[in-house]
Amino acid sequence: MRVLVTGGAGFLGSHLCDRLLAEGHDVIAMDNLITGSTDNIAHLAGNRRFQFIYHNVTEYIYLKGPLDAILHFASPASPIDYLELPIQTLKVGSLGTHNALGLALAKEARFLLASTSEVYGDPLIHPQNESYWGHVNPIGPRGVYDEAKRYAEALTMAYHRSHGVDTRIVRIFNTYGPRMRLNDGRVVPNFVSQALRGQPLTVYGEGKQTRSFCFMSDLIEGIYRLLLSDEVEPVNIGNPTELTIHEFATVINELTGNPAGIRFEPLPVDDPKQRKPDIGKAQRILGWAPQVNLREGMEETIRWFRARVEK
Ligand code: UDP
Repeated sequence: MRVLVTGGAGFLGSHLCDRLLAEGHDVIAMDNLITGSTDNIAHLAGNRRFQFIYHNVTEYIYLKGPLDAILHFASPASPIDYLELPIQTLKVGSLGTHNALGLALAKEARFLLASTSEVYGDPLIHPQNESYWGHVNPIGPRGVYDEAKRYAEALTMAYHRSHGVDTRIVRIFNTYGPRMRLNDGRVVPNFVSQALRGQPLTVYGEGKQTRSFCFMSDLIEGIYRLLLSDEVEPVNIGNPTELTIHEFATVINELTGNPAGIRFEPLPVDDPKQRKPDIGKAQRILGWAPQVNLREGMEETIRWFRARVEK
């Protein structure tokens, strides 16, 4: 296949490029580098099956030649990023998705949307399955991301139903691993860089809120399987092992041998109280389940951060 990955210089986008190339496909990564980095794809320079195009997908996307699939991963994806880039976040989810879907229609390419567990908002059911419609505050600070992704899902289904575009939607739960931006403000880069600097970990609120962390390689496997499947409706991909943020901080301090403990800071507005994917659908239709446990995944992630954190 010849595949376009929007957001191809980002954390997940760049890992997807690697996987697609390893599977023998030709890959075009497109990114405007507002949150992505060419460091993530530097190792692909010189690969004749790989091409990078600097472009903002909220502007019309012009691409020469045939295209078999588009993986639409362009978007700021951390609460700090969408606080700083609220309009870009809304534009990439709406205009960017529209442009990418238009390209898919013109090229008769399969289209896979990177959606998110944020479509469930601060969920009232637990764990979250794909039939839950969510509990989202449209006007809160996270609304720019949540509503953009909800709109992107609606637009994807509309292109499927009205134009017959062959579409897929993955709802991605918290994912971590090498190539996360050190300062992206999410809990994994924050905790790991604080721990490696010997600082206390900043636990927001009382740390009673829960998350479930999936290692990047598991997530990429799930997405690749979904791409090759014929499932049009959304599929959750994530790791159902749930822990409180306080417990998570303890694990990180233990794995890094950080003696500095934790420090409590205010809970951000609309921070979801609990999150855990129901992955029954992915197991059933993709034969997929995560393989990497938190310790293994975090050890690899910590090794990667250790080489980059300035003490
Ligand atoms: N969090 C925290 N300390 C930090 C960063 C995040 O306690 O330094 C908490 C945050 O309040 C949330 C959870 O960790 O409850 C996950 O936050 P993240 O920003 O990674 O993503 P989210 O899952 O909220 O989208």
